[in-house]
Amino acid sequence: MKVFCQECQKQVDYKEEVVFIEERFRGKRLKYPAKAIYCSICDKELNLKEVRDYNKKSRDDAYRKEEGIISLDNIKRILDKYAIGKRPLSLLLGWGEGTLTRYLDGDIPSKPYSDTLINILNDEEYFKEILEQNKDKITDLAYKKSLNALEFKEINNFTRATKSKIESAARYLLFRASEITPLALQKLLYFAQGFQKAFTGQFLFEEDCEAWVHGPVYPAIYKRYKDIGCHPVNMDEIILENINLTEDEKELLEHIVLYFGCYSGRILEHMTHIEEPWRNTRKGLDSFEEGNKIIPKEEIASYFESVRNKYKMLNFTDMKDYSIDLFSKINL
Ligand SMILES: [Zn+2]
Repeated sequence: MKVFCQECQKQVDYKEEVVFIEERFRGKRLKYPAKAIYCSICDKELNLKEVRDYNKKSRDDAYRKEEGIISLDNIKRILDKYAIGKRPLSLLLGWGEGTLTRYLDGDIPSKPYSDTLINILNDEEYFKEILEQNKDKITDLAYKKSLNALEFKEINNFTRATKSKIESAARYLLFRASEITPLALQKLLYFAQGFQKAFTGQFLFEEDCEAWVHGPVYPAIYKRYKDIGCHPVNMDEIILENINLTEDEKELLEHIVLYFGCYSGRILEHMTHIEEPWRNTRKGLDSFEEGNKIIPKEEIASYFESVRNKYKMLNFTDMKDYSIDLFSKINL
């Protein structure tokens, strides 16, 4: 390739050198590699757009590194990760709609804007909040596409450690019970909660359940795992060391799976409809009337306490009689 030399007034060959430049840029002292090219005839430095662009990028990269500003590649990763376009993401964040387009063209974000982007990249919960709170600012299609990407990630995110007891129990049940549906998962959580209280005096987790038409439901867990059918759980990704359960709690869940996990979601639903806590909470509602009243924890505690006494349960294995009895009582 030849370049025009002003001095020689013709197209000339050139020599390339790399030099380290030290300069102040936006208040930071930077040192970065830059290219320079020289005429092979007269040795004058030549001016070439490609070289200027290269040097500008080199300087900007050094600045981003020094200041902890998000890289261009990581901005692209955000768009991929959450299946969101540059314009919708700008709008979600309340920025000018062309902001991310400019960043993708190489503009350097300010530190606060960059920090927001870094948080979004690293924290799915944070992005989810932003998405939910600002969904009116983007099209329904863009919202759903991104939400779908998020839910897919959550379901496949078993490798991430969790401290939440209910989330831990849900993962354990998903791992141990085969072909579990979202509603069946709810019932198993409910039985686990009730029997844990009856056997140990302590609930397994703090969350309250609601008396829905189809039985007791823990809404947050329901929401998180309702797409299990669409996105099969990858068992290889469930790492049980990353969950927060004692050996005794796992033992209880094993028995819940053994005696209740063998029934379909529909059978389990009918079983919980026989039990008092759900019936009492839904008093006054028709069978198919929607309701989301909380089933009081005291109600669950006293009911499962009475079950434990009635069946003279000493060990978890004694839950077997109760599950068989419940099954014999349901009318399908
Ligand atoms: Zn020259």
